[in-house]
Amino acid sequence: MQDLQLKQFSIGRLVTNSYLLHNSSQAVLIDIGGEPAAVLKYLQTNKLELLTIFNTHLHFDHVYGNRALAEATGAKIMGNERDSFIKEENVAGKGMFGLPPVPPFEFENLDEGVIEVLGAECRVLATPGHTPGSLSFYFPAQNWIFCGDLLFHRAVGRTDFKGGDSEALAESLRGKVYTLPDDTIAYPGHDEETVVGDEKRLNPYVRA
Ligand SMILES: [Zn+2]
Repeated sequence: MQDLQLKQFSIGRLVTNSYLLHNSSQAVLIDIGGEPAAVLKYLQTNKLELLTIFNTHLHFDHVYGNRALAEATGAKIMGNERDSFIKEENVAGKGMFGLPPVPPFEFENLDEGVIEVLGAECRVLATPGHTPGSLSFYFPAQNWIFCGDLLFHRAVGRTDFKGGDSEALAESLRGKVYTLPDDTIAYPGHDEETVVGDEKRLNPYVRA
């Protein structure tokens, strides 16, 4: 198996992390919160084919670039349909913070389960709380989890948006993320990465 490389971008008005996972010829991307020019340039420079855009959830600042990037690359878009109401509001321009409408896009539903990503095992976890359809992507061999806006460095995602649920968020953390090995690196939707074992002990909002 080829090693997976990880390249991080910070994109869009709310500075959302995009994570590009790739081998020597193919790539997938997790979230795209704004214009995808930097990602496209990287794909071209490294001669990478983008297969899939995974959305951790369907808030504005994680999906804004879906359409442009999918059109430019032919990648398919995957997310969870429990967040469809958020997509509809964003596309209609009635989304968060009065930001402009999100260019319309279609996506395939992705539920909890094990999938293969570029030859690597990926466990898709349903981790509701920040939104009902929030997904996390755990790569056991790489020791990575991409958790969207569920967990941040010493913080957790907001639950005061429509569909947010603080009890569900705590349950997602305690039942799914905090049961992973302590040295798992958690890559959130904003700001820097953290380590699962540290958050279990030190997170000011939800501890194991
Ligand atoms: Zn969000």
